[in-house]
Amino acid sequence: MSPSMKETSFETTMENKVEFVNGINGQDDFDPSAAPPFRIADIRAAIPKHCWVKNPWRSMSYVFRDVIVVFALLAAAAYFDSWFVWPVYWVAQGTMFWALFVLGHDCGHGSFSDAPILNNVVGHILHSAILVPYHGWRISHKTHHQNHGNVEKDESWVPMPEKVYKSLGIRTRLLRFAIPFPLFAYPMYLWYRSPGKTGSHFNPNSSLFSPQDREHVLTSQACWIAMVVFLVYSSFVFGSAITFKLYGVPYLIFVVWLDVVTYLHHHGYEQKLPWYRGKEWSYLRGGLTTVDRDYGVFNNIQHDIGTHVIHHLFPQIPHYHLVEATKAAKPVIGQYYREPRKSGPIPTHLIKILVSSLKEDHYVSNNGDIVFYQTDPNMFSVRKTE
Ligand SMILES: [Zn+2]
Ligand SMILES: [Zn+2]
Repeated sequence: MSPSMKETSFETTMENKVEFVNGINGQDDFDPSAAPPFRIADIRAAIPKHCWVKNPWRSMSYVFRDVIVVFALLAAAAYFDSWFVWPVYWVAQGTMFWALFVLGHDCGHGSFSDAPILNNVVGHILHSAILVPYHGWRISHKTHHQNHGNVEKDESWVPMPEKVYKSLGIRTRLLRFAIPFPLFAYPMYLWYRSPGKTGSHFNPNSSLFSPQDREHVLTSQACWIAMVVFLVYSSFVFGSAITFKLYGVPYLIFVVWLDVVTYLHHHGYEQKLPWYRGKEWSYLRGGLTTVDRDYGVFNNIQHDIGTHVIHHLFPQIPHYHLVEATKAAKPVIGQYYREPRKSGPIPTHLIKILVSSLKEDHYVSNNGDIVFYQTDPNMFSVRKTE
C-alpha cells in the first residue's frame, strides 16, 4: 500500500476512532514497514504541554545527585581499598559514569535547559569527565537522530550493505560481532567511526562535521585533552594502579553500558524491523523503528534512557518527562510502539537478546528501499569465502 493510500485510510479511520485507537485497524498481521497512518504532528499533539517544558533547576538537581554519588563512591573505594569492595565499586561507579553521560546527552540535545551556555558548560564538564568529546559526539548524535533507520545516512550502529560487510576482514568482523568486543566499541567508534565509514570525532576536518562546527569540535577536544592530562598527572601522583582501579575500570563499565544500551535501542526486537533507503525513508518511519527497553532498577539511575522511541522523535523533551510523554503517545502510535519486555530488578533478559541479535543481524541487501537484517552463517570463516 502506498503512503498516500495509507494516509487516506487514516483519514477514513479517524472518523471512527474506536477502530483506530491502540492498534492499526486491529490488524493482526501487522507490517512494521508499512507507512504509518498517522503523522508526527498527531503524536506531538497527544503529548501533554508540560512535558515540553525544560526546568534547568530540576535538570541541575540530577547533576548534583549524580556528582555527589560519584564522589561518595570514590571516597568509599579509596578508603576501604579492599578486593571485597572493588568489584562492587566498579559496577556502581561505571553505572554512575553512564548516568553522567545521559545527562550530558540531554545537554547536547538542548533538553537540559533553554540556555545554550548552561547546556554547553554542563555538557562539557560531564562528558569531558568521562572522556567524551562533547561537541563532536553531540553533532554525530544529532546526525543519528535526523537520519535514524536510513541505511546510508544513519550514524553509529548502522547496518552494513552486503558488499561492505563482505569486504570486511576477519578482525573487523570479530570486533563488530563477537562478544565481548562490540561491548567496548565506543572509544573505537569515536576515533574511527563505524565499518564502511570514514572520519573521526577527534578530527575537526572530518566528514562528520561541517566547516562551522570546527571551532566547537576543537573546544571539546581541548577539554578532552585536559582530562587526559589530569589522569596522567593522577597516575604519577597517586600511582597508576589506584588510578586504574578508581577511574579506568569504571570507565570500561561505562563503555559497556553505552554500547549495550545504544545497540539494543536499534536492534534485537523479536520481529525484524525495517531499515530504509531513498524515498521510503522518513523521519517518522525511521524513528518508529527504534525500540524501548526496561532496565529494571537502572531505569531511574540512568535517567529513563529506555524510553527511546519518543526521545528519538522529540529529542527536545527532557528525560524526566519521557515516561509520561511515552504513555500519552502510545494510543496514537498503536502497534508501531513495541512495548518493552518487563524486566526484573536486574535486566538479565537483555543479555540473550543482545547475544542472539549479534549472531543474526549482520548485513542488509545492497539494493531495495525497505530492507531487513540478514545472517551470514559463515561469519568467521571469511578467508574461505574471499
Ligand atoms: Zn538512537
Ligand atoms: Zn539522543
